[in-house]
Amino acid sequence: MKAIAVRPAAREVALIEQDEPTIERPTDVLLRMLDVGVCGTDREICAFQYGTPPDGCDHLVIGHESLGEVVEVGPAVSRLRPGDVVVTMVRRPCDHDHCAACRGGRQDFCFTGDFTERGIGKRHGFMTEMVVDDERYMHVVPRSLRDVGILVEPLTIAEKALIQVDQVQDRLPWLATGAPGSRRALVIGAGPVGLLGAMALIARGFDTTVYSREQAPNPKADVVASIGAHYVSATDTTLPQLAERIGRIDLVYEATGASTVAFETMKILGTNGIFVFTGVPGRKAPIEIDTDTIMRNLVLKNQIVFGTVNAGPDAFQAAIRDVGSFAERWPAAVRALITGRYPAEAYRDLLLGPATGIKNVLTF
Ligand SMILES: [Zn+2]
Ligand SMILES: [Zn+2]
Repeated sequence: MKAIAVRPAAREVALIEQDEPTIERPTDVLLRMLDVGVCGTDREICAFQYGTPPDGCDHLVIGHESLGEVVEVGPAVSRLRPGDVVVTMVRRPCDHDHCAACRGGRQDFCFTGDFTERGIGKRHGFMTEMVVDDERYMHVVPRSLRDVGILVEPLTIAEKALIQVDQVQDRLPWLATGAPGSRRALVIGAGPVGLLGAMALIARGFDTTVYSREQAPNPKADVVASIGAHYVSATDTTLPQLAERIGRIDLVYEATGASTVAFETMKILGTNGIFVFTGVPGRKAPIEIDTDTIMRNLVLKNQIVFGTVNAGPDAFQAAIRDVGSFAERWPAAVRALITGRYPAEAYRDLLLGPATGIKNVLTF
């Protein structure tokens, strides 16, 4: 069967042939891949910035955003049946007894860093025709979401963040009684993570602004407008101007990995505000930041800053529910997030060419 793989030692990205996997353990499930999303992580692995093959293997099959159909189940599989459509989680626990997170089934909070990730670190990924994994890592997606289910995995980032935002905001119980729109969110970045995050924020009643580099009109700004959020381009509005326009910013959802903009934005976070980092910046030269202002604000305005990565089962369940409700509420905008579906043979342009569109999908 076909698979898209990197050989880091040879600095090579190729469409390879490999044997089909088979069910080996009683709880294994065999999937036929329907859609596999291409994201910045895949493009970075293809630029050899990271990505580690499994032990004893010279290549890594990439791809971590997936939608698959169950073809066959092992004898002890209880939750899944052939024909089910599923999203498979990415991260697998480390082996250490002392890692309470992994032992508790929450490898998204792994303490040791010795976790593995399908398509990223030490485990083959999903850019291939057939995949086997344990049923415990699979979440059923309603068949009615066949066309948009590929958005579940990238949405889990926002879902995990918002679960934590809710936990933090429990400290402000009176906020829960506020009218819709009384909480204001700012999303930095209009890629798939930012746009899906904006949808999740609008769904929770935040008055939401998306701040991005590109000048409007553009397809991303159109998506933002059609879900009732505001699009502001950095080309014509500075951050202080943006702060003036929005008023008190209760939540910043950072989705670019651009650290300079992120730390500048921290200066306009409002009283009792929460700042969530989801982007992973490349390592560049150190920059100067105004630490006095940021630290003063953190203390005097009760602010909280946290980073979040990967996602647990609760975020996957929330993402499946939300993709369903987004598709009902904003069918055209959700479809517009998926720029195109391409055969596996088109991998070169999508992984190595200039980044285009919003979410590109490979089919096998
Ligand atoms: Zn991704
Ligand atoms: Zn661990």
